[in-house]
Amino acid sequence: MKDILNYIDGRFVPASSGRWLDNIEPATGKVYSRLPDSGAVDVDAAYVAAQAAWPAWKNVSVDERSRLLAAVADRIALANDELAVAESRDTGKPVSLAKSVDIPRAAHNFRFFAHAITQWASESHGMGPVAINYTLRDPLGVVGCISPWNLPLYLFSWKVAPALAAGNCVVAKPSEITPMTACLLARICADAGLPPGVLNVVHGTGADCGAAIVAHPGIKAISFTGGTKTGETIARTAAPMFKKLSLELGGKNPTVIFADCDFDRTLDEVLRASFSNQGQICLCGSRIYVERPIYERFRDAFVGRTQALAVGDPSDPATRQGAVVSRQHQQKVLSYIQLAREEGGTVLAGGEAAAVPGRCAGGYFVQPTVFEGLPADCRTNQEEIFGPVVTLAPFDTAEEVLRLANGTGYGLAASVWTGNLALAHRVAAALEFGIVWINCWLLRDLRTPFGGVKQSGVGREGGVEALRFFTDAKNVCVKL
Ligand code: NAD
Repeated sequence: MKDILNYIDGRFVPASSGRWLDNIEPATGKVYSRLPDSGAVDVDAAYVAAQAAWPAWKNVSVDERSRLLAAVADRIALANDELAVAESRDTGKPVSLAKSVDIPRAAHNFRFFAHAITQWASESHGMGPVAINYTLRDPLGVVGCISPWNLPLYLFSWKVAPALAAGNCVVAKPSEITPMTACLLARICADAGLPPGVLNVVHGTGADCGAAIVAHPGIKAISFTGGTKTGETIARTAAPMFKKLSLELGGKNPTVIFADCDFDRTLDEVLRASFSNQGQICLCGSRIYVERPIYERFRDAFVGRTQALAVGDPSDPATRQGAVVSRQHQQKVLSYIQLAREEGGTVLAGGEAAAVPGRCAGGYFVQPTVFEGLPADCRTNQEEIFGPVVTLAPFDTAEEVLRLANGTGYGLAASVWTGNLALAHRVAAALEFGIVWINCWLLRDLRTPFGGVKQSGVGREGGVEALRFFTDAKNVCVKL
């Protein structure tokens, strides 16, 4: 059994308490490694290392920081297949998905911020003959990055790379449910020559290790991605300490399909938006609204395609749906399926745990599931399920679908499918979401602002937004 270790001050170490947590392979239900059950003492050791490394790291030239981040990107890309297998084993997602999406994106995150930092400039504001202002952007010091289990290396690197690029030292914690690739990334960073203490990775539970990062008085900012409830807890601790906070939280995203859409392309992409990563992507569209003239045609085609999705061993290249991340999460998703039935929904596809024979007989699989006939205000249509469960409903007018789409407490992402450009712009403008995709889904340009409104979070990641978050502005005014 492999031990995952903390990475503190350039050394791989167990938790100071000597305690461990089991790491389970979701596709089999078996423990296959263990990770340190770290707490406040380990977080403080990571902080001390980071703080000691910071004066040198913030003064490393932009070119050299960029070179080091690009070297990390190169090594991730070189190890793509090995990292993808590790990510799949840890999460239950198909290896094919990890190979084509998760790991390439992690490399891209490092490469993107390696470039972005060389192109970043701060402002100056002239006051004619009177004075000139220039704005300095100073790194914050030691920052905390806390990431979830659904896209482990993808989201871990999405935080760590801009934090490092901007000249901060980092104490980072991946999800205790999927810790493996963060540990492998620490090894890659060491091999790429990142100085000791610049990146520290501490493993453990949210309640002990995560909370200790948030509460540490020396850690200046928290970049968090995870559930809305957790975000609330974090804000409660961090806000009175005036820490900078970036909170990327849950979603309940609408997919809005107008009758004049490109039917076949929409069908392909909406299937992907519904069930990619077993529906465990914060951006997945779980409420599908279809304009009435094509409702039945779309529903029947969509249900057929859903039933054809191959649920199976994540290591099998033919598998389209792997396991969900844990027994507990499987139970949560199944309980929502039960709730949807009780709320009067009709199951059109799926609706049960999926049995996968052989090696995966003990794994946590759920059939991709489609409901119709549920009211907009029921819990199934209001709460984040974060699994392979979607609802279908018809609509008649743009005004009606906007009311439905905007009618939850969340506001992360929406997608709109139509051939009418004017309608698309009008609907996009009226959607209360941080991200709107027109005739596409999860098409990402890393320069764009990323984040949600309402209960989906506070702040934006991506491009200069991330570099701004990880720096403080200081304006210098010079009287001429
Ligand atoms: P989670 O909130 O349970 O955990 C996320 C991370 O926070 C983990 O590392 C966990 O250990 C840590 N944590 C838990 N309690 C903590 C505490 N009190 N203090 C500090 N850290 C704590 O979320 P999850 O179940 O891992 O992930 C699923 C959620 O993440 C879903 O709600 C999903 O929508 C959301 N998500 C959002 C985005 C986005 O960009 N908006 C992206 C991916 C996932």
